[in-house]
Amino acid sequence: MKCTRCRQKAVVALPSHTAGFCAPCYLVYFERQVQRAIKERRLFKPEDKIIIALSGGKDSLALASQLKSLGYDISGLHIDLAIPESSPTAREHVEKFCDSRAIPLFVLEMKKQGLAIPKVKSRIKRPVCSICGKIKRYYLNKLAMDKGFTALATGHNLDDETARLFSNLFSWNEAYLGDQGPYLPEENGFVRKVKPLYRLSEFETASFCFIAKINYCLAPCPYSRGASFSFYKTLLDELEHRQPGRKLSFYEGFLNKGQKAFAMLNEERGITPSPCRECGYPTSEDICGVCRVKSMLADSG
Ligand code: SF4
Ligand SMILES: [Zn+2]
Ligand SMILES: [Zn+2]
Repeated sequence: MKCTRCRQKAVVALPSHTAGFCAPCYLVYFERQVQRAIKERRLFKPEDKIIIALSGGKDSLALASQLKSLGYDISGLHIDLAIPESSPTAREHVEKFCDSRAIPLFVLEMKKQGLAIPKVKSRIKRPVCSICGKIKRYYLNKLAMDKGFTALATGHNLDDETARLFSNLFSWNEAYLGDQGPYLPEENGFVRKVKPLYRLSEFETASFCFIAKINYCLAPCPYSRGASFSFYKTLLDELEHRQPGRKLSFYEGFLNKGQKAFAMLNEERGITPSPCRECGYPTSEDICGVCRVKSMLADSG
């Protein structure tokens, strides 16, 4: 196969775009997809101060590398979950990556907050991933707001987004559908949230890291039961295989035709968050989820 841009030998085939690229042209393709996402969905402007959630995996590091080379004002934030089997290596990858590219990095240690994830898992009899997700969202938002960042960027890719959308549609989860998309505006104490990689698949971010020589963390979290929404990802992979390009058209179709209707429903039902009684974080209840987890841990000794 020949490169669609320069006719040299292609190293990455992309059936969804009926295209293939050599290594240098693939980097151009990747950059254009990110620029297109930023422009079409008005994610942020050059004057924005962006903080990127860096887990150490391929998506977040690819995103940071691309935004840095596009000249955006970025910093990284890594949340050290204190999981012995995976956290030290994840943190090391993030620190080395940011060091080598002169990206300012914040590291928040959950152990210092009394929220080491192994402790949470052993004391609270609820699925650990939902609590861990809550804790990560809380601290990402808190640091972004406290330090005056204007946008929080995450490395969610097209596979993550379509699987989540499919799952939310399958269960007609109206509230989540109204909030789903690559852009959530700043409001009620929550920072603006953006997902500039939403046009790119997992395969495409992995190919980018390989070509751009980004050394990312491969150690899986021991509590993970495989990729999130893995069943839906498998179904959508099969669909994409039969009809290349369907994932992106499915997702963009939702953004262009469906999302607004669900967002309006959410607005009509209007639950405006108010500050948590303990910590001031915006919540729809009296006390926020993280303060409740902290008090459950205190009660369990
Ligand atoms: S797999 Fe679950 S526990 Fe592990 S980092 Fe992810 S959300 Fe947290
Ligand atoms: Zn080429
Ligand atoms: Zn709170």
